[in-house]
Amino acid sequence: MFSELSLHERLLKALDELSFTEATPVQSAVLPKAMDKKDLMVCSETGSGKTAAFLLPALNHFQDNPAPQSSTRMLILVPTRELARQVFDECEKLTRYTFIKTGLITGGDDFRHQVNTLRKNPEVLIATPGRLLEQMDNSNTDFSDLEYLILDEADRMLDFGFSPDMIRIASECRPERQTMLFSATLKQKGMVELIKLVLNEPESLMLSTARDKHENIHHQMMLADDHAHKEKLTRWLLENETFEKAIVFTNKRLHADQLCAKLRYHDLRVGVLHGEMDHSERKRMMGMLAAGQINILVATDVAARGLDIKGIELVINFEMARNGDDYVHRVGRTGRAGEKGVAISLVDHAEWNLTSSIERYLKTRFEKRSIKELRGSWKGPKKLKASGKAAGTKKKKSSDSKKTTVGKQRLRDKKKTGKRRAPAKDGSDASAKKSPAKSQTSSKAVDAGFEPMKRKKS
Ligand code: ADP
Ligand code: MG
Repeated sequence: MFSELSLHERLLKALDELSFTEATPVQSAVLPKAMDKKDLMVCSETGSGKTAAFLLPALNHFQDNPAPQSSTRMLILVPTRELARQVFDECEKLTRYTFIKTGLITGGDDFRHQVNTLRKNPEVLIATPGRLLEQMDNSNTDFSDLEYLILDEADRMLDFGFSPDMIRIASECRPERQTMLFSATLKQKGMVELIKLVLNEPESLMLSTARDKHENIHHQMMLADDHAHKEKLTRWLLENETFEKAIVFTNKRLHADQLCAKLRYHDLRVGVLHGEMDHSERKRMMGMLAAGQINILVATDVAARGLDIKGIELVINFEMARNGDDYVHRVGRTGRAGEKGVAISLVDHAEWNLTSSIERYLKTRFEKRSIKELRGSWKGPKKLKASGKAAGTKKKKSSDSKKTTVGKQRLRDKKKTGKRRAPAKDGSDASAKKSPAKSQTSSKAVDAGFEPMKRKKS
């Protein structure tokens, strides 16, 4: 219960209005330790309520200890603009009955306007690293009084190549600050270094991780012959399933646009979200979905990562996610805050091995499902026939070699599952193609809706 945590009554009032009656597990774990001024690294699944977990201790402290002469008191770094906006909105709701002010500094928004925001000296600043550094380079920020530094979705920030930016920003913050890092995994490459450089003897709180399957999400799969068959299945599902809102994931921007157009043609209320769209366009889409003007969003991974949209009850993977972590992030758009959700993956023959490896990664089995009138000709692989039966027969040699190939394939998939593949520079949002590391980072960064790491010096 929040009331047991001796939170200020103005915060309790806001919590009540938000219908946050019980603290979620991550909130129960984090709040007392954070109020004890400890540095924390917290592992917790998406949708578990991390935002309030890091906001409430700080807001409570500011409410009890006003310091109008202080410069920025809390800095929250997040990987994407959309997430920054969500954290900003939640902070505004929680501070409704207080005098605490919040500022938002993200790429894509007007630079001068942000300078004005910074001049007003809000207690809480929410920012994406790239734009914040530009403001810092122009001496528009002051973190010499900083009390709280939050790295939200630290794993994603590492993925996007923000590690040097985070380290530099942290080095300009008051050393006595309290730092809290939130991540779906702490096993990421570069995480140890980041923790060492930015946190001070942190305590680690491991709640359920991204890999634990969400208990309230029903995982299903459907076999599909090809792209055209997938389009028919998607349309059928969107016309026949019961849901308030749905997200359909594609792996490529082009596919997202094409699918959106086709579904619209069939009078479905669909919008699209991908990294090629400009900021205002994406904002408009999110607004339409929130307001219910559209109830279906066709999206690519990076554009939709971390978004918290109320009422998403159905996630369709038009194309299978490229690895276990991406799958978890996709389906994490549903089943949030205890709600129920269904995730349906459309799997063609080329995606079979990947799907099995994701099942193994999640330690779960997807329920197989088919639609009577849309049954395809592909019924899944014949691997069982190929192994076992042939042992001891004349064809032993060839069957053995076949078995080995299957084994190798599996092992390879297993290795890649759960690891993120670096994105490519081409049209896909995070392609399996290899391209040089530098361009990968910036391409993904751009797609994620923020400025690339290397900025031009003007
Ligand atoms: P995370 O950052 O862990 O992915 P969020 O902080 O975005 O999760 O929270 C997910 C959803 O749960 C949000 O819609 C949020 O408003 C809601 N939520 C958070 N805490 C509570 C609570 N104590 N009770 C009810 N809903 C909550
Ligand atoms: Mg979050």
